[in-house]
Amino acid sequence: MPSQPKIRTRFAPSPTGYLHVGGLRTALYSYLIAKQNNGDFILRIEDTDQERLVKDGTVNILQSLYWAGIIPDEGVKLDKNNKIVQAGDNGPYIQSERLEIYQKYVQELIDKGCAYYCFCTQERLDKLRQEQQKNKIPTGYDGCCLNISPEEAKKRVLNGEKHVIRLKMPKAGETSFLDLIRGKVSFKNELVDDQVLIKSDGFPTYHLAVVVDDHLMKITHIVRGEEWISSTPKHIQLYKYFDWEIPQFAHLPLLLNSDKSKLSKRQGDVAVNDYQNKGYLPEALINFVALLGWNPGDDQEIFSLKELIQEFKIEKINKSGAIFNLDKLNWLNGSYLRQMDIKDLTQKCLPYLIQSKLIKSEKDVNLNYLQKIVKLEQERLKHLDEIIDLTHFFFKDKLNYQSDLLIWKKSDREHTLNNLSIIKDSVEKIDSTNFNKENLEKILMPMAQDRGVGDVLWPMRVALSGEQNSPGPFEIAEVLGKKESLKRIVSAIKLLEK
Ligand code: GLU
Repeated sequence: MPSQPKIRTRFAPSPTGYLHVGGLRTALYSYLIAKQNNGDFILRIEDTDQERLVKDGTVNILQSLYWAGIIPDEGVKLDKNNKIVQAGDNGPYIQSERLEIYQKYVQELIDKGCAYYCFCTQERLDKLRQEQQKNKIPTGYDGCCLNISPEEAKKRVLNGEKHVIRLKMPKAGETSFLDLIRGKVSFKNELVDDQVLIKSDGFPTYHLAVVVDDHLMKITHIVRGEEWISSTPKHIQLYKYFDWEIPQFAHLPLLLNSDKSKLSKRQGDVAVNDYQNKGYLPEALINFVALLGWNPGDDQEIFSLKELIQEFKIEKINKSGAIFNLDKLNWLNGSYLRQMDIKDLTQKCLPYLIQSKLIKSEKDVNLNYLQKIVKLEQERLKHLDEIIDLTHFFFKDKLNYQSDLLIWKKSDREHTLNNLSIIKDSVEKIDSTNFNKENLEKILMPMAQDRGVGDVLWPMRVALSGEQNSPGPFEIAEVLGKKESLKRIVSAIKLLEK
């Protein structure tokens, strides 16, 4: 028996900005298929549409992928200094560096009569389109230049006449393929356009480049978004003309907002980078993205990348669109954050606290103290940047709040003042080495039960935090320590006395 070829998958982004979460899912599924088969995952940059290129687009996409832990085995990579490098025997892996290759293959198509020169002006094409739309017939090229003899076409090209090269799509029959997710997919050939393969600037279109490259790079499985499915018959026709083996295709369902519209920037973040900046963990985002349209068939929700490599099955991907549920991502990220060692979590929170200027620098901070602060919020934290709003009051010398906030519901100023004075006296009596939640509770709770739990705990908590919402007063006091807690209680008393 002939041995099976090595499984090779690829992710082929165009560097038009940033890595979209949908792109991350495509990359992840391609990566998983390669890894679970001891295959290779290749990264290729598709930059043939020069007008849409964005400066640093490639680096941005690669950085997001590396951050997420999806590292290519071959192709375009980042070195230790975050510089773009290419590695592998099938390069170059950046399409704009492969122009001669595409020229060679398109010439082969022309020689075989499978592609033709087209000299139609934009004006004619626009008019044709308008007519077709007016007559309610499918839009597409009408084959006008098909009648030009090869000799004449050659002459006109040599004369420098502006032209493109088009695929000669058969007009009878249909083109079918077996999609790994959707099963058999068929397109009537008469509805498939004579696609431009080489543009007038000499650059290939995506359609020619993708087929040539996937073949030369020995790609066995093509995983990509559903928006490409109508291009696939053109690609299959090209494989047939070249007499190349046709790879397997898997077209992934769209990502949707909760109202079932196509996931868009208007309804929230779509760039992987945005999630990174907000403090989502790569493990959590990968876990979440893996479950967009795929499920293991049981109720397991938490998957490491390693587990995904074992469990993922392309056949289990849903055909219908996958809803991007931010609450679920928050829940997942929160569960990863809760499981973290407090030292690691504190380290991850540090940059946010420094960026928000609550802390000057790592050197200026007592890590032990910071760990206690972070520990207080570990249960609540959904993404790391929330640490700023949740803990800012710990870092401030003076809290800024209105005296009214100290007064619990139907309580009044005088009662609150008295309660705060009693709290102050009790707190003063606690030995600073035993200044912890348990002792504070033991001493203050009986008094609170006497004088009204809300009437005592609320002003104490506001005195310590200045906030409408925060952890409980005893927990905050323990972290602040006796001296700082007393200072804040005294300030609250003064504020009420004004
Ligand atoms: N360059 C295409 C994109 O950015 C890749 C499509 C494909 O994977 O074939 O979506």
